[in-house]
Amino acid sequence: LELYGVRDWGEGYFDISAAGELVAQLPLGKQASQVALLDIIQGMKERGIEMPSILRIENLLDDRIKALNEAFKHAINEYSYQNHYRGVFPIKVNQQCHVIEEIADFGAGYHHGFEAGSKAELIIALSKLKDDQSLIICNGYKDSEFIELGLYAKEMGLKCFFVLETPSELPIILECSQRLGIEPLLGVRIRPLVIVDGHWNEDSGDRSIFGLSTASLIKVVEQLKESNMLHCLQLLHCHLGSQIPNIRNIRSGVLEACRFYSGLMEEGAPMGFLDLGGGLAVDYEGARTNSHHSMNYQLDEYCANIVETICECLDPLAIPHPVIISESGRSTVAYSSMLLFNVLDVRDHCPAPLPDSLPGSSHELVHNLWQVNQVVAADNFQECYNDALFYRDEVRELFRRGQASLSDRAIADNITLAVLEKVAVELKQTDKHYPELNNLPEMLADTYYGNFSLFQSLPDIWAIDQVFPVMPIHRLQEEPDRDALIADITCDCDGKIDHFSNAKGIQRTTRLHTVHEGEEYYLGVFLVGAYQETLGDLHNLFGDTNVVSVHIHADGSYDFVREFQGDSIADVLSYVEYDTKIMTEEFRQLAEKAVKQGKITAAKRKQMMKAFKASLDGYTYFEKEEH
Ligand code: PLP
Repeated sequence: LELYGVRDWGEGYFDISAAGELVAQLPLGKQASQVALLDIIQGMKERGIEMPSILRIENLLDDRIKALNEAFKHAINEYSYQNHYRGVFPIKVNQQCHVIEEIADFGAGYHHGFEAGSKAELIIALSKLKDDQSLIICNGYKDSEFIELGLYAKEMGLKCFFVLETPSELPIILECSQRLGIEPLLGVRIRPLVIVDGHWNEDSGDRSIFGLSTASLIKVVEQLKESNMLHCLQLLHCHLGSQIPNIRNIRSGVLEACRFYSGLMEEGAPMGFLDLGGGLAVDYEGARTNSHHSMNYQLDEYCANIVETICECLDPLAIPHPVIISESGRSTVAYSSMLLFNVLDVRDHCPAPLPDSLPGSSHELVHNLWQVNQVVAADNFQECYNDALFYRDEVRELFRRGQASLSDRAIADNITLAVLEKVAVELKQTDKHYPELNNLPEMLADTYYGNFSLFQSLPDIWAIDQVFPVMPIHRLQEEPDRDALIADITCDCDGKIDHFSNAKGIQRTTRLHTVHEGEEYYLGVFLVGAYQETLGDLHNLFGDTNVVSVHIHADGSYDFVREFQGDSIADVLSYVEYDTKIMTEEFRQLAEKAVKQGKITAAKRKQMMKAFKASLDGYTYFEKEEH
């Protein structure tokens, strides 16, 4: 089933088994070790972990760290580069404790460090980092508390760099350094001029809110010279933006960074570290193009381009090769997490069977619509589409003004659906493009109601129209027979997934299976490990979902290594400052009043109090009743 493009976006980590189930797979033995996601859901159910849940595959994350480090190692060997690579994971991309601990544990083998953009993130880095060869890069605005912490880390032997984002940070760093008698490791963040393709192109350019202008950079160098501290300036930082889809932009950015690097060496700074920030993209579409959700390069090519460009720029100047640092977040964590949820309901938009003839009392415009429905054919379907929508809207307008009955409106809506269905059939028979009919599939698509909150679990779909791979995780040996879009369970019309990527590019609907009465239908949204968990919000008070981490073994078995219970209703209420004890008392008073008024019995009150308390302890998502 190529429909969902698993092999295009899955980077080899997902496939479809002969039994029609989506499997996660890892290259652990001679053959890939595969685990069916449905099997994991079954195991979760048996352990009482309900949908929706985030599933993390712990050693898939390890594999990403390995892939990045090995790809740089390979490029470094290929170009006889005279220094090494050090990766740092930007904590903001996924701050969840398990993710950070796994990166620290597995990453230690590669001296993979952390990038911290705030005091809280620095505290995470300091407490979780396992290895003193790894780097800590401190970006963002830093007050003296932040700086003191970083200086203590340096004194304990950690390579903790402060990257200057603004000139005003330097006096604070110098003051703290003098006071504590600890010399800092310093970096400067430049504002590259390269404007990259993709969504995050405001991290670079003259008007970028990050980094030093060239004038400020020179000022910083002068201040360092004056304070006899220029020897502390060892790192140049350059971040072009996240999710850079075009490799040519990356090359241009590295070239510009190297020019700054050599300029700073000319000024007398020792340098030694070149930090190229994030930007390594994820091919959410699997299209290998330079569109926002894709990328026109692969990991090996990314590393080779960086190494080659540095050599090309610095070798003619006889500048020693710097340690290459990258702050790859998205590409490191996106693949290892997926959101799994069940479908609660499906609303189809099929017309009800039409009567043999219209009631005589029907409005004249309804009769016109009826006529349109009789004549839809290959040579007039666009005309019929236009006529049907025109008559339907007229009837709706008359209904609003009280000149058509409810029954007229209902029949008109139904006949219109019948016309649109016939038009859709005709449209499928032709190769000709009818731009005006582009949204026809969407108008006729079924709505699948999923047990999740888009705002909590997939906020980038709402915020920036991000496209993630979405697909059923089972029944994949069956041809899906419905056009669908997916709605979440918030009461918000923005809470829907209506952009899907497939072999034909980005589509407004996807194909899903008919859901059979009494059977569960599970969908997964993939590559959600980066940014989604922390950017999610409490819209409609749907809280954090359950999280399960599994570790896959070479023989295809797996362990549930960690489980986190999602928020209860009491948890989310406390986040918005409710006191659930007071709320319980208020509910008790309401119930007691009802007893007094004879509306309920005391025994009923007991039952109601029990239900109230059970709800407070319950999951914020739809829970299936247990019998
Ligand atoms: N470094 C910095 C300074 C960033 O601002 C970001 C995110 O925009 C990153 C690293 C991570 O980028 P990515 O997730 O594209 O790897």
